[in-house]
Formats: sequence, structure tokens, C-alpha cells
Amino acid sequence: MGFLLKIVLFGVAVYAAWKTFSRWKGLWDRFVGGPTAAPPPVPPSAPQAPPAPAPMASRRATVEDAVQCAGCGAYAAASVPFCSQCGRPLPQGRSGG
Ligand SMILES: [Zn+2]
Repeated sequence: MGFLLKIVLFGVAVYAAWKTFSRWKGLWDRFVGGPTAAPPPVPPSAPQAPPAPAPMASRRATVEDAVQCAGCGAYAAASVPFCSQCGRPLPQGRSGG
């Protein structure tokens, strides 16, 4: 016997079994009414608002926080009073008091 013939017979057997099973399953569902009831109504979901664009103030604040040292030209944070490179006092406009 050829191996191909066995495969074909096996395929036919599986097909017949599946058809029989689906047919009996259909009859069963028609009798019982189906194990799965109607799904509950889905509540109307609120429309998703588009994500708000990032405020430009945050970007500008990052730039304005850095001040350039007049002595060495290095950029340092405006929160520090002196330059970390050369030690000169940084020009802080709002540091008056
Ligand atoms: Zn400096």
C-alpha cells in the first residue's frame, strides 16, 4: 500500500468525522438553545479625546534655565550662583533682592 493512500484515507475520515460532529453539534445547539447566551449590551464608550499637545512652556523653561558663563562660556544651571568650570559668578537676572 502506498503512503499517500493512507494519508488520503485519513483525511477523508477526519473530514467525515468533522462533518458528523458539526451536524450533531448544530442539532444540539438547536435543542438546547446554545450554551452561549446573547452578549450583554456594550455601554457606549466615551469618545477618546486626542492627546493634548505638549505645552511649549516646558521646552522654553529648559532652555532658559541654563545660563552661559561670561568667563569660560560654559552653560550652567541658573540655580547655581557660580560657574562650575571657572567659579565665576553667573549672570542671574532675577537674583536681585
Ligand atoms: Zn565659567
